[in-house]
Order: sequence, then structure tokens, then C-alpha cells
Amino acid sequence: MRLGDLEFHILTDGTFRLDGGAMFGVIPRPMWARAAPPDERNRIVLSMNSLLIRTAGKCILVETGAGDKWDDKRRDIYAFEGAPRLPDQLAAHGVRPDQVDLVVNTHLHFDHCGWNTQRINGEAAPLFPNARYVVQRGELEHAHHPSERDRASYLPENFAPMEKSGQWWLIEGDQEIAPGVELIRAPGHNADMMCVRLSGGGQTAMLLGDLAPTTAHLPTAWIMGFDLYPMTTLENKKKWIAEIVRRDWLALFAHDRAVRAARLREKDGKVVAEPVAVD
Ligand SMILES: [Zn+2]
Repeated sequence: MRLGDLEFHILTDGTFRLDGGAMFGVIPRPMWARAAPPDERNRIVLSMNSLLIRTAGKCILVETGAGDKWDDKRRDIYAFEGAPRLPDQLAAHGVRPDQVDLVVNTHLHFDHCGWNTQRINGEAAPLFPNARYVVQRGELEHAHHPSERDRASYLPENFAPMEKSGQWWLIEGDQEIAPGVELIRAPGHNADMMCVRLSGGGQTAMLLGDLAPTTAHLPTAWIMGFDLYPMTTLENKKKWIAEIVRRDWLALFAHDRAVRAARLREKDGKVVAEPVAVD
């Protein structure tokens, strides 16, 4: 898909499964189960979508999925599935890891930064040797000192190696990191999660990240139980979803398996997604 001189593709690192109740917070199961049918272990299937962006001669990867540094117990819990996974999809688009200039993590939960690193001789090392990795400074600090509540979401092997290699580019607040690529801090899911806004040629697309991970999360109250600050999620969802509807931007979803991109329309007081095909 093209936005003026900016080109982007939506790639995926396959799917994984999380508890359906945790994914929909206070929403009763009979309601969310219609939107996202659970498996026999009450888990729903989520995609891990990434953006591959080319702009101004730069190659940018947003989100790096869950990676492959997993033991058997976790593989069973999260049921990672799907091939080709992210590195193979990059190769299919003619991109070698050493050609990536910037890697953006909207935040450092394991399903957003797994392929930041790969294990070589038992040790995790950056997969993208020439890239600067971009995240909010507060998120990297939090990743080192998570609370008892979100500790399971942070795996140091996904973010510590880039400190050793000096590859982190830590930002504070909103920042344009390349022409037409803006990172926008949108707290709620945690203190420093970011959305990504792409613009060019008079058009705009916005990756909502975990503000609204799937189209099922478009209704205002459908907020993940995982969120540390759900009332802040609520405020930011209202703000950004209304903006997307009003300005007719393309909405991009980080975890929706079926609908990766959509136009959002207001119908009878509800926001509905009209899927748009993006390769
Ligand atoms: Zn998250």
C-alpha cells in the first residue's frame, strides 16, 4: 500500500493464543465469545502483525512478533502457529535483517519484540545488526522493573542485548522518526505504549497497537483485562478512534487475524470496521 512516497506492507509473525476473558476485561463471556470464539482452554487466536515501511530510502520494521526463543511449556501455553514467520516474510519481501534501518517496538511485551533478537550459541543477540531500535525510554525502564502484575509479559532476552550493543534509540513522548512515520504515545495498556501514524500523499494510516488490538475491541468498553490503566485506555480510545472516523484514516490492527486494515465508520452510534485488503 502506498501513501504518497511512503510504502508499507503488513506482515505477520503468525498467531498465538491468550485467555479470552483476559482479552476482554469486564465484558461477559457470552458477548465476547460471539466476537472471538474461544478454544477448549478458553483461549482466543490472535495474530501478531508487523509493518514493513519504506520511506526516504529507509527500511523500517514496526513490531517484531514473538520470535522463537521459547521453551516447550510456553509454546504449549501460547500455542504459537503459522509459517512463514516474520524473518521469512521479510525475506519474501526482499529484505535481509542487515538492511533494516529502524526497528520500532510499540512496547516491550513479548508478543511485540520477540524477533528483536535471536539466540546464537545459547545467547540472545540483536537480529538486525545495523538497525537502531526505537521505544519509549519509560517503557525500557519499566521492562527492567515490571510489577508482579505484568512481569510475565517482559522477557529480558528481547530487550537487554540492544543495551549491550548500544542500538537503542530511546524517545520521550511523540516523535517523527522518519518522513511520514510518527510515533504517538498512547498510554492505558501500560504507561508508555505507542501508536504509529503513517502519512503521505494526503493520506493517513494509524496502527492502534494494543489500544484496540482487534476490531472486536472497537466498542469503547471492550478493554483488555491486561491493561494497567483501563480508564486511560478508555480516554485514548475515544480520542483516537473518533479521530480516525472523522478524518477517514485507515486503521491498522496489531492482533486481528482476519482484519489487518479497515476504514472505520460510525453507524447508529457504533463504530464499525469496513475491511480493506492490504498485502
Ligand atoms: Zn501488550
